[in-house]
Amino acid sequence: MDIKAKLNLNVINAPMSGIRKISDMVMQMKDVVRMDLGEPDFDVPEHIKEAAIKAIKDGFSHYTPGPGIMELRKAAAVKFKSENGLDYDPETEITVTQGGIGAIFSALQTMVNPGDEVIVSDPVWPVYLGVLGILEAKPVFVTIKEKNGFNMMPDEVKAKITSKTKVIVINSPNNPTGGVMTESNLKAIAKLAAERGIFVLSDESYEKLILGKTKHLSIGSLPGMRDLTVTQFTLSKTYAMTGWRIGFAVAPKEISAGLRKVSLYTITHANSVAQKAAVAALTGPQDCVAKMVEAFRGRAKIISEGLNATDKISCIQPEGAFYAFANISKLNMKSEDFVLKMIKEARVSAVNGSSFGESGEGFVRFCFANSDENIKEAVKRISAFVKTL
Ligand code: PLP
Repeated sequence: MDIKAKLNLNVINAPMSGIRKISDMVMQMKDVVRMDLGEPDFDVPEHIKEAAIKAIKDGFSHYTPGPGIMELRKAAAVKFKSENGLDYDPETEITVTQGGIGAIFSALQTMVNPGDEVIVSDPVWPVYLGVLGILEAKPVFVTIKEKNGFNMMPDEVKAKITSKTKVIVINSPNNPTGGVMTESNLKAIAKLAAERGIFVLSDESYEKLILGKTKHLSIGSLPGMRDLTVTQFTLSKTYAMTGWRIGFAVAPKEISAGLRKVSLYTITHANSVAQKAAVAALTGPQDCVAKMVEAFRGRAKIISEGLNATDKISCIQPEGAFYAFANISKLNMKSEDFVLKMIKEARVSAVNGSSFGESGEGFVRFCFANSDENIKEAVKRISAFVKTL
């Protein structure tokens, strides 16, 4: 019997992430400096761990409300209003999700119907494509270019809008490029969306990891955007809590009602203990975040200056997140071949730009969530390696 043919082919044929392919491969290898997976190398701050331990000891081990405990939603509402200019009701418009991905999946499932077009960048974080494939929606790509600081340019977005465009996905600070959208570009895209009633999914996973001069701005705070925008936040990157799986979907009540149903039928709610820890993360001291950002600023410099010094690879200084998107086009090699050879011969892992879409070819993503010492070692190995090519 052909089991596969009987299954949901949208699910079966959904693309597998090229990032995972590399990380699964290098996991088995020794002496490799890991610059592939995008995950902070810091430990979870002590006061957050304490809150989780207390929750376990207090027996906070039962079902919580589907959208999350009110204490957490209220703490989140204060943060979103004061820091992001997003004024949403914790009762009906703020939902605790299972990581940022929980917000992305439930929001897209609520907003798109099969055949709808969704504008995404190219290069793109491939998870959006997996979700859109499952939902039978069509990704429409807008190339983001190095010369524009990897910004999604409003004119190029405009050129891709059709009567079927349902959502524009903005991811700033950006994975994989480290670009941060400028205020003027965000304002122009917001104007396009507001005039046409197009939804925006704003992935702000890396909002705190601002490394350069461009400030973070939440598009949902711009005129006309409140009721068209779903903003996704996560504690994964800000507090090094990737495994704790706490994120947020901030959306007008009609969209929130839908995404809460998706969340209810898939995860029921986010982990109870992690929700208590999340309250401590949002309401406790924030100096841990400032320290981490300072460290990432230093590391961004080490990797980009180190790669530029090779004169075979160039790399613009990342403005945000913890990714350096290095240009290897001078080498005339496919990015996948380059990465596989670099892993084998230089013992440094990274992700080939082609894993992030057609326009990622000619680039390699180095994740600098690693110690200064390891990044310096990686630069040394890469410099020696490129001389052999
Ligand atoms: N969005 C982007 C661009 C990411 O890079 C990630 C994680 O790597 C996420 C969302 C989701 O993060 P999580 O589900 O761990 O909160």
